[in-house]
Amino acid sequence: MTGPTKNRIGIYPGTFDPITYGHLDLINRALALFDHLIVAVAINPAKVHLFKPEDRRDMILECLPLLEMDDVQRRVEVVVFSGLLAQLAVQRGATAILRGLRAVSDFEFEFQIALTNRALAPSVEAVFLMPNAKYTYLSSTIIKNVAQHGGDVTKFVPPIVVERLARRYAETRNSQG
Ligand code: ADP
Repeated sequence: MTGPTKNRIGIYPGTFDPITYGHLDLINRALALFDHLIVAVAINPAKVHLFKPEDRRDMILECLPLLEMDDVQRRVEVVVFSGLLAQLAVQRGATAILRGLRAVSDFEFEFQIALTNRALAPSVEAVFLMPNAKYTYLSSTIIKNVAQHGGDVTKFVPPIVVERLARRYAETRNSQG
């Protein structure tokens, strides 16, 4: 029996401070599973961010063409959100919340969050994806550390982000000095 194909919507939350090749690898993989992907940039007052949420969103948008897929701009939406992710997922009719697993160390925290989200939004599944092995060690935090000390981050983040990191740290240095 054939019926109308369900539009599968995935939601990929994170801080993306800033987006890395690891995040982009995950977005690429998610597009094989979902028709539409919502990348949700979290405003988390408990965390200190280097970039404003709108800047984090803009960097993601600017990096999407690197995925070299004709319809990437149509299928990926980037939103800034605060509040409950489970609520946003239900509001947007998401089939699943997507997260990345880099190492076993990610697992425990992700497991807790996934089960909490399931209690809040039982219709939304949790989907975990592993990046290409060469990106398993990448994290925005480590990249910021390297960039802050003038190290080369060109292997870890797209050129647009390399430039934004350099500019942002120059601003911080100027405002301090
Ligand atoms: P958060 O602060 O919510 O963990 P991040 O921006 O650090 O936000 O990460 C968002 C999601 O992307 C998380 O599920 C994280 O595990 C995943 N992720 C981050 N870096 C990588 C990477 N190098 N490879 C695969 N997944 C990653």
